[in-house]
Amino acid sequence: MEQMRAMVLQECAPIETNPLKLSKIKKHEISRPHEILIKIEACGVCHSQLHGIEGDWKDLGIPPSLPTVPGHEVVGKVVEIGKNVTKFKVGDRAGITPLLEACKKCQYCKEGKEYLCESSTITGESFKGGYTEYISVLEDFATKIPDHMKPEYAAPLFCAGITAYKAVKASEPKIGMKLGIFGIGGVGHMAVQFAQIEGCKVIAFSRNENHLKVAKKLGAVDYIKFSENQDEFLQKIKEKHGLLDAAIVFAPADIVTDSAIKAVKKGGTIVIATIGERPLFIAFEEKTIRGTLIGSTKDMEQVIKTCDEKNLEVISEIFPLEKANEVLKKLKNSQIEARAVLIP
Ligand SMILES: [Zn+2]
Ligand SMILES: [Zn+2]
Repeated sequence: MEQMRAMVLQECAPIETNPLKLSKIKKHEISRPHEILIKIEACGVCHSQLHGIEGDWKDLGIPPSLPTVPGHEVVGKVVEIGKNVTKFKVGDRAGITPLLEACKKCQYCKEGKEYLCESSTITGESFKGGYTEYISVLEDFATKIPDHMKPEYAAPLFCAGITAYKAVKASEPKIGMKLGIFGIGGVGHMAVQFAQIEGCKVIAFSRNENHLKVAKKLGAVDYIKFSENQDEFLQKIKEKHGLLDAAIVFAPADIVTDSAIKAVKKGGTIVIATIGERPLFIAFEEKTIRGTLIGSTKDMEQVIKTCDEKNLEVISEIFPLEKANEVLKKLKNSQIEARAVLIP
């Protein structure tokens, strides 16, 4: 039996206790005719994975079972293909989003919204995750990556990139629109750039000064430090910019969502691209509140194309696979500028 190195989560626990253990597990192989086997080049370290590992989302059924190999921003090289594979050949490069597989039969799958499928399998919530050396996947759920695209650039696009892209589209961007982005990290720093491509004026909000500087560097017209003192915070926005036309929330805190809704003008749109409680919503203000998740394989292809053509910046820091616990600790303590990437 061939084996591979993996960072395995046996029990959910605070990241300070190093819950991921370097282990040897059975190497994935092709088990169905439409599968490809990818030798992983890099896997991004997503904030939602940290919540899953620490057990914050147990009530939501995440992770659905243990043990798991986390990691859902996976890129690599195709090293083997099943006998019915047509989209890839050996030597191609491919990436996988958090959507590892969907049923292809339900109404969502038929509508091209397979990421909403109710019998989907999520990457990194079983032994099939990215914190390892190999992964197999059905060809329909993998996306091609150009040969010149570096692994540490491509990996973050597969969750952070697509989440940001979909959220910006959901805000119904227009040229000159005043768009507030709440939460500037792995996802937010991509959203700042996608929004500018659409001609929006981005105002960035974060609790973290370094993240705000990143947003400014990437072209945000202004940034304001987020404050729990809501009246003062909203007053500052109004004085500097007036109310926003639209807002996107990436920070998983109800106070942030609430402030974002209040910072948007009547009739404006608020996109919630994170987990959270039901926000207070006043119908007479005619605001639209919309949720977004990741996106389809088609959306993913569009993300790769846009990033490549428009030369978007992906800020990433590289670490060896074995350092997964340390990297997640840094992420928890806001010591990662935008995205960390593990290289096996
Ligand atoms: Zn993610
Ligand atoms: Zn389905």
